[in-house]
Amino acid sequence: MKFKSEFISSLRITFLKKTVLKIFGVIFFLISIGCTEITTTIPLTGSTPSLSPVSVPTRSQSPSFSSTTFTAVPSATLDISSRNPATHIADQGVCSPLADVPLIGLKAIITQPFIMPGIHEDGSFLDSGHHGLDLGSYDISGKQARGQPVSVALAGRISSVIYDRPPYGNMIMVETPFESIPPALVTSQSIPKGDSVYTLYAHLQNPQFFQLEQKVECGQHLAETGMTGATGGPHLHFETRWGPPNTEFPVMASYGTDIKDEEKKYYYLWRNSGVYHVFDPMELLSPLDFIAH
Ligand SMILES: [Zn+2]
Repeated sequence: MKFKSEFISSLRITFLKKTVLKIFGVIFFLISIGCTEITTTIPLTGSTPSLSPVSVPTRSQSPSFSSTTFTAVPSATLDISSRNPATHIADQGVCSPLADVPLIGLKAIITQPFIMPGIHEDGSFLDSGHHGLDLGSYDISGKQARGQPVSVALAGRISSVIYDRPPYGNMIMVETPFESIPPALVTSQSIPKGDSVYTLYAHLQNPQFFQLEQKVECGQHLAETGMTGATGGPHLHFETRWGPPNTEFPVMASYGTDIKDEEKKYYYLWRNSGVYHVFDPMELLSPLDFIAH
């Protein structure tokens, strides 16, 4: 009798154990279904920003940047959720000018933004504002330091190589022919067919040896960030303009005691003549910001 009741109670315990295990099993199954649904619905809920040339607004007004100097570090948190890499202009042949910082991270290391220079009535530019974009140069620990790799942002051919002249210091310029300009930039800047985009990299150290007209590819190593020319700290000064094609700048300098007329002539042609139209380099490097605002 005692044996029988023990047997029944052991049967009950086994039944209870099985029931509890079944309940846990069902709960686990439901949770796992829920997780599966969550993971599969995330990509579907994200909106896909359009980057077709027709959706890019034409900018007629000057950019309204403040002249505040930023001291951001590369480790700053970046909101990448709003950007769909598939429609980023990187797909159109744009590379980061700082090899160790992805295009999407450049915004966080701007130490001085582009400020549109004043324009004379005849269309020529004043030497005011900030004709380019300053990207801070940081080492792996986040400390400002020279020596970070600088690479080609837009493929093309070398149109200027200047060694240690004010204000750009060691400088390399690349001309990108019309066919290779990202279509979104052609639209946003209303670049006339046949004109080129020129990109300028300044304050470099250890520049690679380049000859005029030499072809360079997107992402190709150019030099390192440095402090040559007029600069208070290690950074890359990056300038972008569009204008007539096939121009070379064999010399260029200004603001020095020993500047030759020829150097000043090319400096004026590049910066002030109005022949080459300066624009915010971030329109090339991060155009979605300009579409959003
Ligand atoms: Zn600068």
